[in-house]
Order: sequence, then structure tokens, then C-alpha cells
Amino acid sequence: MMLEVKDLNVYYGAIHALKGVNFHVDKGEIVTLIGANGAGKSTTLNTISGLLRARQGSIVFQGEDITRTMPQDIVRKGIVQVPEGRKIFATLSVMENLEMGAYLNKDKAQIQRDLEMVLDRFPRLRERRNQYGGTLSGGEQQMLAIARALMSRPTLLLLDEPSMGLSPILVEQIFEIIQDINQQGTSILLVEQNAQMALSIADRGYVLETGRVVLEGPAQELLHNPMVIEAYLGGH
Ligand code: ATP
Repeated sequence: MMLEVKDLNVYYGAIHALKGVNFHVDKGEIVTLIGANGAGKSTTLNTISGLLRARQGSIVFQGEDITRTMPQDIVRKGIVQVPEGRKIFATLSVMENLEMGAYLNKDKAQIQRDLEMVLDRFPRLRERRNQYGGTLSGGEQQMLAIARALMSRPTLLLLDEPSMGLSPILVEQIFEIIQDINQQGTSILLVEQNAQMALSIADRGYVLETGRVVLEGPAQELLHNPMVIEAYLGGH
């Protein structure tokens, strides 16, 4: 097991946002957490990446308890998050944004090789490498956010709503990129409101409702589950 989340309880002051969340990600998998607004998806990712603290429960990554590990140490261990809303640096160039993704790496030659690798993967970013991040289109910004995360050489990539605000064609492209990254060996935990797309590329899925996992299973099974169809796939 690559990541195991057990009985996760997280609060914002008096608000009990996660009420005992349990799930796991195996090596090589794409696992998706789906659920409506406010279900606790982002809270779950932010707790794994160390930005929020669990009041109760544990997060174990590759056999090591990281529940109380600092965010930068979690990145060092191989978990990298692409945050909701991308959070790219608007006044830095594409190249500078990518270099920021490698900030923990002291090996200049390796950074150069990694830069070439991500620019090969995202030709659109190569074309725009000197452009300010803030002037990229929504789809290009999402590509940059994913590319920047790849610069930290993640073992497990956490993706928070990569489809948000993108046209259907761009959503398809981003999901193809996610599958491609997974096929190259990176495990993926994908948070999405677009349940259809997420389940279509995932191995397994979990449905979150008001801070609890209410349903889990192989993604293909969830795609055909009447409750999922009714609540998350528009009833078709
Ligand atoms: P969305 O898709 O809308 O981002 P989500 O499933 O990611 O939804 P979370 O953002 O994790 O949901 O929110 C879970 C719950 O925690 C919600 O009830 C939300 O209002 C609450 N919450 C989130 N952030 C805060 C905060 N900073 N302060 C107080 N409550 C918060």
C-alpha cells in the first residue's frame, strides 16, 4: 500500500469537516475522491500534504507515519499537490514557475534534465516558456501547475479539481495527460466534481459526503451504481 488514510478527523475551529475518513492508494493506481461542494475533498488533500492538521487519525505513506510531518518534508518524501485553482505565480515566467517546482532540488544538472522532460511533455509550455504565468489560458495554467508539480519528481501526485473551469476538449486533454503520467509510474489521487471523467480514468473511487466516505469500489462499478448516477452523473 502506498498511502493509507485512517479515521481522519479534521476541524476548522468548531466545524467538523472530516469525520473519520478512511481510504488507501496502492502503488501505480489512480484513485479518485468524488463528492459535491463542501464534501471534504480539498480538506482531505490539504491534510495529506500537511497544510492542515488532523485532530485524530493517521496518514501513512510508504510505511511511514506522516500525520505530523511538515509540508516541505512531505514533498521531499514524494507527495506533491496540484492545488485547486492552480496557484501558479502570475508574475513569473513559465520557466520560472517550473524552476520553483524544483526548489528542493540542489542538483542543477538534474533540474535542467527535468525541465527538458516536462517541456517535451508539454510542447505548449515550451512555446510559451518566457510568457508570464498570469497571461496563460486556463488550460495552459492547469498544464503549468501539473508540470511544476512534476519538477519535484513525485511518487504520489495529488490533483485537486484539475478540470475546473476548462472546456470539454481541454478537460479531455488534461485527463489524457494524467493517465500518461500514471502510466509512467506515478500514483495519483484525484479529487473531482466531474465524476464521469474522474471515474472513467480511475482504478478505484470513493464517494465523500459531508466529511464521510459513503461508498467505495472499482471505478467501473461506481460508474454504474444507481446512487452515483443519480447524485453525480446527472441521472443518466
Ligand atoms: P469544493 O469542491 O467546493 O472545494 P470540497 O469537497 O473540496 O468542496 P472542502 O473545501 O474540503 O470541500 O470543505 C469541507 C467543509 O469544510 C465545508 O463544509 C467547508 O465549508 C468547510 N471549510 C473548508 N475550508 C474552511 C475554512 N478555511 N474555514 C472554515 N470552514 C472551512
